[in-house]
Amino acid sequence: MASCRASCRAVNVDPLNLMRELAGKSRYSTLRPTSPASMSATRKKSSPPKSLRTADRLARLGLTTDMALALHLPMRYEDETQRYSVRDAARMYGHTVQIEGVVTACDVQYRPRRQLVVTLADDTEQLTLRFLNFYGSQATQMAVGKRLRVRGEMREGFFGLEMVHPAVRSVDIDTPLPEALTPVYPAGEGLSQTLLRKAIDAAMTRIDAADTLPDALREKLKLMPFNEAIKLLHHPPADLDDDALIERTHPAWIRMKFDELLAQQLSMKRAQVARRQQGAPVLAKAGELTAQLLKALPFSLTSAQQRVLEEIRVDLAAPYPMQRLLQGDVGSGKTVVAALAATQAIDNQFQTALMAPTEILAEQHFRKIASWLAPLGVNIAWLTGSLKKREKEEARARIEEGSAQLVVGTHALIQQDVAFARLGLVIVDEQHRFGVAQRLTLRNKGMDSVPHQLMMSATPIPRTLAMTYFADLEVSVIDELPPGRTPVITRLIAQERRDEVIERVHVAAKEGRQIYWVCPLIEESEALQLQTATDTHVMLTAALPDLRIGLVHGRLKPAEKQQVMEAFARGELQVLVATTVIEVGVDVPNASLMVIEHAERFGLSQLHQLRGRVGRGTDASACLLMYQGPLGLVAKQRLGIMRETADGFEIARRDLEIRGPGEFLGARQSGQAMLRFADLEQDQWLVEQARDVAHNLLTHAPEIADAHLARWLGAKEDYLRV
Ligand code: ADP
Ligand code: MG
Repeated sequence: MASCRASCRAVNVDPLNLMRELAGKSRYSTLRPTSPASMSATRKKSSPPKSLRTADRLARLGLTTDMALALHLPMRYEDETQRYSVRDAARMYGHTVQIEGVVTACDVQYRPRRQLVVTLADDTEQLTLRFLNFYGSQATQMAVGKRLRVRGEMREGFFGLEMVHPAVRSVDIDTPLPEALTPVYPAGEGLSQTLLRKAIDAAMTRIDAADTLPDALREKLKLMPFNEAIKLLHHPPADLDDDALIERTHPAWIRMKFDELLAQQLSMKRAQVARRQQGAPVLAKAGELTAQLLKALPFSLTSAQQRVLEEIRVDLAAPYPMQRLLQGDVGSGKTVVAALAATQAIDNQFQTALMAPTEILAEQHFRKIASWLAPLGVNIAWLTGSLKKREKEEARARIEEGSAQLVVGTHALIQQDVAFARLGLVIVDEQHRFGVAQRLTLRNKGMDSVPHQLMMSATPIPRTLAMTYFADLEVSVIDELPPGRTPVITRLIAQERRDEVIERVHVAAKEGRQIYWVCPLIEESEALQLQTATDTHVMLTAALPDLRIGLVHGRLKPAEKQQVMEAFARGELQVLVATTVIEVGVDVPNASLMVIEHAERFGLSQLHQLRGRVGRGTDASACLLMYQGPLGLVAKQRLGIMRETADGFEIARRDLEIRGPGEFLGARQSGQAMLRFADLEQDQWLVEQARDVAHNLLTHAPEIADAHLARWLGAKEDYLRV
């Protein structure tokens, strides 16, 4: 847990600028304690072109204004406020200590390898300093007779007490010890801590650190004043509670995190307002077609489906574009809601585009929706990359002239040469699999107005994330499964008991049930994953010669894939060996047993999605999670969650608890990942507070909102609006 936090932190330091410009996550973790020696060594090794001045180097970190510099907060501190005598330090093996003394010897030695060896003495004792990589200037700095303050880890060397690569500072006999902790900043190429500290200290004297929040509000929120907080964080007094600084729970950190979250909420809400100023087709009311579809459906909508449909209907009838995220657990019935949104557009003589991330999924939608809408006379086009050239041209022509009322497909839909006659609604399934840019392209295909957008996702997004990274979307949730579903029983089974599992598959197949056998995820290699699936298919076919067993994986041609899936859907195949291509959307109600090999390698939400492929019919269903032991504590906890709950939201919440939010952040493009300081898990309450304050400020005091945004976002705001 702690290490996960730390790593999330490391990435969080300043993703907006750093990840983009420097691709430099590792820079944080490899940053060594600030020895001027090692610093200059680093600088020499990877020095940027000479022409790059300090300002340019700072600019690479996004530090182009005084305020940006001031908000570049330390990632940790070093305590240089204490000094020990060499004799006292001698008892502190393994600890980092600071001592001061005079150089009594300074030699280059060549054995066992070239190194600079310095003897430093105070009036109690002496010790050896060793530098393996050193420069001539260091030998001068540490010449005999010089007074040095050094800080490093005490070790018992072959020849007595020593420090390897200590941080070294030349001092006079009366150089005072610092009274504050020394900040260590996230740095970049060619930027030493000394340089950053100087630049930041200078900026701190120039900024206008007046509070953006009025006193009354700040006091009500029990927040530390901004200027106090920022001063403290750059130079905390030595007697301060260290842990609170490191854990970022100190009131000064809380203030920074709150401000950051507030800026984010404000900018998201502003973007939302801007969106409302764009025009969209008014799809006023559901008409004849919608009524016909509702009547023709073999089931009636659940009350959750009715509720979200109502929310969507209201949005579609507005003159500005809907941007709604429809969240519903696996199997909750999002497709029919999408179809009913489409009919509302069609009822208003507008086209709908439905885009899915994979060919298999797009096909599923196409088949399902066509089975509902084709009998009602709706003209549906199918467009994916794998169509023959002539078929593609024909589909494009129908889309362009407007005879295609509904278009289903993959991202082939957003290619340049597809022009819609009257695009009114864009539906994106499994939206987190598409980039923001891809979604925007489709949105821009509306002619004079922006089409409405409905995004669907079965990946539950934890509340805090929904409130931050997705704050500019409206969210509808289907929180109820259609009736008649039988809960899926989940069991954990060690890999060694594979034979029993195979026997269970056999029995189930003989009872007329169908079985998925999901092969392990092999992240390093798709080829290896394919190999495993093929091997498993061979193994099962040999072990169960009387069963019809199919194989589906990502490398099959779409037509072949479709053939296998259809054979399984028709019941011709009893067992389907598959890679994770079946993860989303596949709907074969008669399949009631799922075996997942090496479940410990999957993400929980992925396991949940996979498991959602069974339990769709009336048969009691089971999911067997095979694992390779021994499992670590975290792996055990995670698989335990799968056994205990079938609720996707609960699973996501607990997964977040165990692993932290890093996982979900992929859901949003890095451009939106603007949080450097706040931790969505630890600071959930702050997120909620910031959201409420943002709302109030925008309504009652927009000028405060402006000032706050200017301080925190500056030039970054445009980037947010992508
Ligand atoms: P998902 O939300 O995972 O995309 P689907 O839309 O594929 O779920 O729906 C899962 C199954 O439930 C489909 O077979 C669908 O036809 C069926 N279904 C949807 N809504 C209802 C309902 N109200 N009553 C009964 N079955 C329904
Ligand atoms: Mg679906």
